[in-house]
Amino acid sequence: MARYTGPVCRLCRREGMKLFLKGDRCFKPSCAIEKRGTFPPGQHGREMRRAKLTGYAEQLREKQKVKRIYGVLERQFRRYFEEASRSKGVTGEALLTLLERRLDNVVYRLGFALSRAHARQLVNHGHILVKRKGVERTVDIPSFRVQPGDEISVAPDMRKNVHVQEAIQTAAGRTGRPAWLELVDAEQCRGRVVALPTRADISSDIRENLIVELYSK
Ligand code: SF4
Repeated sequence: MARYTGPVCRLCRREGMKLFLKGDRCFKPSCAIEKRGTFPPGQHGREMRRAKLTGYAEQLREKQKVKRIYGVLERQFRRYFEEASRSKGVTGEALLTLLERRLDNVVYRLGFALSRAHARQLVNHGHILVKRKGVERTVDIPSFRVQPGDEISVAPDMRKNVHVQEAIQTAAGRTGRPAWLELVDAEQCRGRVVALPTRADISSDIRENLIVELYSK
């Protein structure tokens, strides 16, 4: 599966806001947005004034922002949108909840990874187990969609990994784990999906209606 492999701080600077793509490091003074400000990247970024976006440009930036937060490329994002638009609920909200149910996002939200990129790596390398209907198996697909009742855990040989431990300690100090996820056992790196996510569980900074408008043209 293709993915963006360039410098991630550049993505935040392009969007003019912190997207928290580096986990705990995003809260440190070394964050590029903190250090350099919100002007766009590139040689002339500092000279460019961030004009107020309207219409298409605003919709496009909102879509790019959400894609970058969840680490999804265009074709897959478009598929999520098409699925959301076929669902019964509000399309924008359905889109966000589909993204939120990705296994890599859930591993990050449960606090087993420092960032979504780290979570994706754990999944890709076969370090994440999913127990569904009593059967536990390794799942190495980051886009795997969780459902209520699923138990997510880190494989035993990775539980003491320094980065996983760092993530767990960082998450312990973080407030507000989403209500749809339950941390069953931090030591065993085990959590459970107790419900489907709702719009209230997802960042209010996202204006999903702009994405719907963009794709509905
Ligand atoms: Fe974005 Fe984090 Fe880099 Fe700051 S440190 S620019 S929030 S990825």
